[in-house]
Amino acid sequence: MTKKTDPATAIQNLKHFGEFGGVNPSITDSATFTFMTEDEMIRAFHGEAEGCFLYSRHWNPSNKYLAEALAAMEGTESAWVTASGMAAITTTLLQLCNTGDHIITSITTYGGTFAFLNNYLKKFNIEVTFVNITDIESIKRAIRPNTKVLYTESMTNPMLQISDIPELAKITKEDGISLVVDNTFTPMIVSPHLLGADIVVYSMTKFINGKNDCVAGAICASEEFINAISDVNTGTAMLLGPVLDPLRSSSILKNLGTLHIRMQKHSENALYLAKRFEEMGLRFVYPGMPSHAQYGLFNRIMNEGFGYGGMIAIDLDTAEKAAPIMELMQVRGVGYHAVSLGYFKTLFSNSGKSTSSEVPEEIQKEMGLSPGLIRFSVGLDHDIENTFQVIKSCLVDLG
Ligand code: PLP
Repeated sequence: MTKKTDPATAIQNLKHFGEFGGVNPSITDSATFTFMTEDEMIRAFHGEAEGCFLYSRHWNPSNKYLAEALAAMEGTESAWVTASGMAAITTTLLQLCNTGDHIITSITTYGGTFAFLNNYLKKFNIEVTFVNITDIESIKRAIRPNTKVLYTESMTNPMLQISDIPELAKITKEDGISLVVDNTFTPMIVSPHLLGADIVVYSMTKFINGKNDCVAGAICASEEFINAISDVNTGTAMLLGPVLDPLRSSSILKNLGTLHIRMQKHSENALYLAKRFEEMGLRFVYPGMPSHAQYGLFNRIMNEGFGYGGMIAIDLDTAEKAAPIMELMQVRGVGYHAVSLGYFKTLFSNSGKSTSSEVPEEIQKEMGLSPGLIRFSVGLDHDIENTFQVIKSCLVDLG
């Protein structure tokens, strides 16, 4: 049985007040904090002082408010906020793995994640096996005695496959492996921890913040793990220092309050486009359509009320066909020819040439990534039929 939850109400129920009764928590933009006694400072450095802050690379009140809201959304005991999504991913993996350990990962992940796993971890002698995350048997076969982590994205970038988190959790629990899930594409829609994942990571740069005005990330996990990453002697977050600026934390917290409504609208618009693309006979990928291979699975694991997400891809076969169409779509006002996602304007790019360009071409081929795949992050367009008509006009005029 999979559990369904209501992350929007979990956030709505929080009662966070400012210092003077403000409806938003006060912003604490101090790097350091005073102590009344030397004894208290010493105890703080040993992790023994309750409720006090010592230095903002470790913890900051504004970061704590945002982290608490994210933990409430995910149903985890705790959370920590980072300066980027990559910081959340790399901090988590470097905390979990030592030299000589082994990671199994979905071959389709964000290009930066792929590059970290494929190129960067070599310097620590951490081995990585890339699998098709929808092939459960291949994952079982890949497990070794030194496997520490199974890594995936709830909805993979850019192939938009859905990971069977409950099934993956069964496998990892048997072998004491940590299941780490990047939920960047599907906040609110999927609750990976409640489905069995140990750690949930985010690029908050995308849907969670939704304003494209900063990069930020988050790690949602047990209190034990968050304490471990922020330990002054051995914590990866404390020692590598990828902390989020508290001014940003406070602005992201305010945007989190509207996330559920934005996700509903992104999803409604993307589903509308998917239906219109199907009528046109266009080749597309959208996990909210019955034609998608994991449609049934997605319905089983998703929370109700937020739709199937704002990500959709069309396949134009070649990069040469995709390029002029993307340029024309920008000129005619479909949105912006830009990477990233979760913005109120529609964003689109050729995945193989942009956000997955770190993945060598032969591996792109192996994972089924078409060189003509245009990934759309569908915006909050008020008139989505008009957006569809403009996309169609570009395809017809240059088709
Ligand atoms: N995870 C996913 C699924 C992404 O798409 C991205 C960025 O595009 C990241 C992580 C990295 O996040 P950031 O750019 O905030 O470091």
